[in-house]
Amino acid sequence: KGGVGKSTVAANLVASLALEGAAVGLLDADIYGPSQSKMYGVEGRRLLADDDKNILPLRNHGVKVISIANLVEDGQALTWRGPILHGTLTQLLKQTVWGDLDVLLVDLPPGTGDVQLSLAQLVTVTGMVLVTTPQEVALADVRRAYTMARKTHVPLLGVVENMSYYPLPGGERDYLFGEGGADRWAAEVGLGVLAHVPITRALRESGDAGVPLVVSDPGEEAALELRRAARRLLRRVADEAMSTLPMA
Ligand code: ADP
Repeated sequence: KGGVGKSTVAANLVASLALEGAAVGLLDADIYGPSQSKMYGVEGRRLLADDDKNILPLRNHGVKVISIANLVEDGQALTWRGPILHGTLTQLLKQTVWGDLDVLLVDLPPGTGDVQLSLAQLVTVTGMVLVTTPQEVALADVRRAYTMARKTHVPLLGVVENMSYYPLPGGERDYLFGEGGADRWAAEVGLGVLAHVPITRALRESGDAGVPLVVSDPGEEAALELRRAARRLLRRVADEAMSTLPMA
């Protein structure tokens, strides 16, 4: 669902993976609200091509990043339908000089649209992470995304519950949006919860400032949880990748 913090979580997971020493790329394919160029401080930068007309990704905080927002004017991608979307995604995936990456993370638009379908057709997706907040309205959307992933045979790597609680002084937690929503649903469908990320002012400010919180303040409460999530995710990615290798 839009606004649940998908981009914030994606930006910090990718930056955490880079801190762990992985070679990582971030492709922002959220046509409705591409925000990674802002979150990575590369807003307004034009993309350049090499001599063979391949796109050179931008770089910041140890991550190669391209956002739809670096490609077209604000709002233009909203009008794109199937074939144009598919063509653009093909170009961004296959004609970009990503180099030798361990992980390419794609920030998807909310829901279950053409971008998700195209991606599943274009590349072998190792897995999808679902981001939700604890409330029922957000969980309803994430259920649909789950069903689509199953139908398109995209493995599910886990759930991130964002805005899980607000940390109070003295270590108390205020569960603003209810407690345990994502856990109950994840258990129902047999998925693991990768993280419970609190609501913090620092996490909001870092997004606006163009530096992922795990880089600017790695010891902050939300940052610590996002870094743990990245390590869990890396193990899940490795398990998934290994399971698709032919047996010796
Ligand atoms: P989405 O990509 O799902 O639309 P964003 O990542 O853009 O959502 O987040 C929406 C807004 O909420 C942004 O201003 C972001 O900084 C803020 N935000 C997201 N997660 C948190 C959090 N855990 N704590 C504080 N602010 C958050």
